[in-house]
Amino acid sequence: MGIQCLVMQRWLKYQKGSRCSMRYHNITKADMLNGDGLRVVLWLAGCSHHCQACQNPITWDANDGLIFDEEAKREVFAELEKSWCNGLTLSGGDPLYVGNRKDVSLLVKEIKSKFPDKNIWCYTGYTWEELMKEVKEDENLKTILDNVDVLLEGRFVLSLALEKLHYVGSSNQRIIDVRSSLDTGVINLYIDNNKILKGEV
Ligand code: SF4
Repeated sequence: MGIQCLVMQRWLKYQKGSRCSMRYHNITKADMLNGDGLRVVLWLAGCSHHCQACQNPITWDANDGLIFDEEAKREVFAELEKSWCNGLTLSGGDPLYVGNRKDVSLLVKEIKSKFPDKNIWCYTGYTWEELMKEVKEDENLKTILDNVDVLLEGRFVLSLALEKLHYVGSSNQRIIDVRSSLDTGVINLYIDNNKILKGEV
């Protein structure tokens, strides 16, 4: 089926009543670059941070890409059913772009209930501190953080960019163990890139 037919078919389905307004650009499978193990990665549309030298500026526009409909969800779930698939990574764009939060919250909740053994990693341009301020007022964000295992946070800063970092592009970006950080109220890093660079681990 040509890409135009696929887009039209999905658009018609959306018109018929799908309530999901979140859009995505790609679903990559057996991905080894965006989290531990082999993963399925959902590349969402929408980002308001506009970091200098962002690698995916095509994803900034929340109205671009395809609607994340039931068919796309089934595609993600089919990957999560595979024994070798370690989990889902949400990337983009920014999965925590305000317009994405409701649909992302529903998605991560459903995944945790259907696939309790799979982990969820989530990239965002927001810092942990910014999210902790917002979460008090944002139920969708709270649900997301209650279901995400690892958060890769912070804007990409060109002057801090380093090639050797694990899973992130600049040294200000942290890889946070969400569960233990929320439980203790103190940021607990899942991977400490700065210590790795100094040879301390
Ligand atoms: S947060 Fe990520 S997607 Fe958004 S502009 Fe920065 S690097 Fe690009």
